[in-house]
Amino acid sequence: MSRASDFADKFKVTKGKDFRLKDWDPADTLKFNDKEQAERILAEGVEKLAKLQDKLYADDRWSLLLIFQAMDAAGKDGTIKHVMSGINPQGCQVYSFKSPSAEELDHDFLWRTTRCLPERGRIGIFNRSYYEEVLVVRVHPEFLEKQRMPRKLVDKDIWEGRYESINDFEKHLSRNGTIVRKFFLNVSKDEQKARFMKRLDDPDRNWKFSSSDAKERQHWDEYQAAYQDLIRATASKHAPWYVVPADHKWFSRVVVAAAIIDALESLNLDYPEVDAAKKAELAEARKLLDGEKKRKS
Ligand code: ATP
Ligand code: MG
Repeated sequence: MSRASDFADKFKVTKGKDFRLKDWDPADTLKFNDKEQAERILAEGVEKLAKLQDKLYADDRWSLLLIFQAMDAAGKDGTIKHVMSGINPQGCQVYSFKSPSAEELDHDFLWRTTRCLPERGRIGIFNRSYYEEVLVVRVHPEFLEKQRMPRKLVDKDIWEGRYESINDFEKHLSRNGTIVRKFFLNVSKDEQKARFMKRLDDPDRNWKFSSSDAKERQHWDEYQAAYQDLIRATASKHAPWYVVPADHKWFSRVVVAAAIIDALESLNLDYPEVDAAKKAELAEARKLLDGEKKRKS
């Protein structure tokens, strides 16, 4: 992957004001025609990522939070698996956020994800996130009811209020050394159907299908509207959205890898410098080990 930004910049949204989802083609593949070429580029990207992660870990000051949001079957799991395949598992944690537990519902909407933020030097991946709070919860107001918020705080401004909380939170993270990158895997309605059908047809994929997937699909337009609204409200320079074309999985993986490389390269990371005291310490250790060799021989 020569210049990561070549593959990612076109899909990056830092200012949401005029964002319209219908301008973004889920089947876009830039200049790629074939899967093999993209797979070669991805392999290079994965190697580069491993090196950058090693430096992030050694430097131990920054952390990277990657948020993945999408409609069902858009390929979140596969993208995470492929893009992070070269990464040292010790420096990376993946959290999947499903329907909240009773304990989680007993707290404010940022509580459960805040507990899972990456430590310094680590990459944290959120497979779904607090953005569900302005997506599924918006599309299904009964989820909001379960959150047992004081009634007078639930009014027509609740979503705007949540965007504000999210923006403040992401600003706070970036001020404290957590780099935030957000990915919306943008799959088309036709492609989602084709993938659902595959899951129904192929016994090895049956487990991936849940009846609620087909039900949620009935709310497609409401979800698209909620995505557009949240991207408008929460895209920023320090926490951009990437609207990743997801009809071709091989292409979405290249874009995501490139965006992560771009984020890490922007930190200009290097291995920690060895100061005079550390050098003396290393020389001492060398002496000790050399002595051991001589004593043995
Ligand atoms: P898979 O690829 O395995 O289907 P998934 O992320 O879709 O992965 P599921 O267990 O199928 O996992 O779905 C999780 C469900 O939890 C989603 O429908 C999502 O909208 C819902 N969910 C996530 N966060 C919340 C929330 N805060 N409130 C209500 N529902 C939520
Ligand atoms: Mg699902």
